[in-house]
Amino acid sequence: MEASQLAKRYGKVYVLRIGHRPERDKRITTHVGLVARAFGANGFVLGDICDQHVIDSLKGVLDRWGGKLEIICGVDSKKYCKEWKRSGGEIIHLTMYGIHVDDVIDEIRRSPKPKLIIVGAEKVPPFFYEIADYNVAIGNQPHSEVSALAIFLDRLYEGKELHVYFENAKLRIIPSRKGKRVECLK
Ligand code: SAM
Repeated sequence: MEASQLAKRYGKVYVLRIGHRPERDKRITTHVGLVARAFGANGFVLGDICDQHVIDSLKGVLDRWGGKLEIICGVDSKKYCKEWKRSGGEIIHLTMYGIHVDDVIDEIRRSPKPKLIIVGAEKVPPFFYEIADYNVAIGNQPHSEVSALAIFLDRLYEGKELHVYFENAKLRIIPSRKGKRVECLK
């Protein structure tokens, strides 16, 4: 299945990264974007700031490894959330304080509404807990936005995202028991 087929089956899914601090979060925010792409999301939004280093890294991966992830940066995160809901979407905020993922994932998957998944950095302002339709915990222990997002998307897509291939790829890995085999497609 092509990556974009996931959207046909499961609906539109965007990831909003809030609270990015350029002096310390470049790597982890880039990893949030990489997980969004590799685990089947359709868009990555870096809220309230444009960090060119992060954006360029993600675009480089898209260029080489393919995919149609829409990348947006610098939007006002609160306005973006309000507009997402106004246009019929729903919001899922990943937080260790939320409802256990196992208790809500089937309900979330059944809903046909476009989904905006929010992940934070340090302390998340109360606004996001309140506007969220679901505050979802990937277990109720603190860990990381990268692991939380990966596990949430994997549960949402029922593991199918790990079997998709990406459109427009220049490179493709040929799985090997040993060593690295990479095929050039263009
Ligand atoms: N105490 C912080 C909070 O939730 O406000 C934790 C910050 S943590 C370093 C950064 C982000 O990782 C959080 O905003 C959340 O999106 C995600 N995260 C960490 N642990 C999580 C968990 N158990 N379940 C869901 N998301 C989690």
